[in-house]
Amino acid sequence: MDYDTYGSSAVELAIELANADRTDPEWARAFLSSHDEWFTPGTPLELSPRETHQADATAELVRAVAVAQTQDDVLARLNELLVLARPHPYATDHDGELHLHYARPDAPVLEQLTTTVAMGLSQVVVQHGWQRLGVCSAEGCGNVYVDTSRNASRRYCSNTCASRSTVAAYRARQKA
Ligand SMILES: [Zn+2]
Repeated sequence: MDYDTYGSSAVELAIELANADRTDPEWARAFLSSHDEWFTPGTPLELSPRETHQADATAELVRAVAVAQTQDDVLARLNELLVLARPHPYATDHDGELHLHYARPDAPVLEQLTTTVAMGLSQVVVQHGWQRLGVCSAEGCGNVYVDTSRNASRRYCSNTCASRSTVAAYRARQKA
């Protein structure tokens, strides 16, 4: 599968946002700090309570796109997410490679985040198919993933879940 590198990593950011543990009220600030390479250097990472709520809604929408089971449902959720995006593409070589950024560089951090994940997710859906998004098959997990494997064979969010499930299946066979 030939992903555009930036679009491909932008969808990874979307997936990480959807899978972030949002139980701590400070979760969004922590998420932004641990992903600050995505934002224009110097962008303040503080969010108001209202912005934190909006980040939460964005994460929920990304998840809704990934778990949707029909194309109509995927497109409806995706368009809800795109309404929140403020795309303003610009070309840059800041990391040594020419590529496009989706959000204007001086946008507030929430706008940069929302726009990047919405555009990254959309790009994968329209170029590679919504079936590339899915929910982890491991029991009790529920994380979402994007399948970048050549033969679209991914079923788990992580290697941890894959090996946990392999061990569980092995034990089940042993018992039977
Ligand atoms: Zn998992």
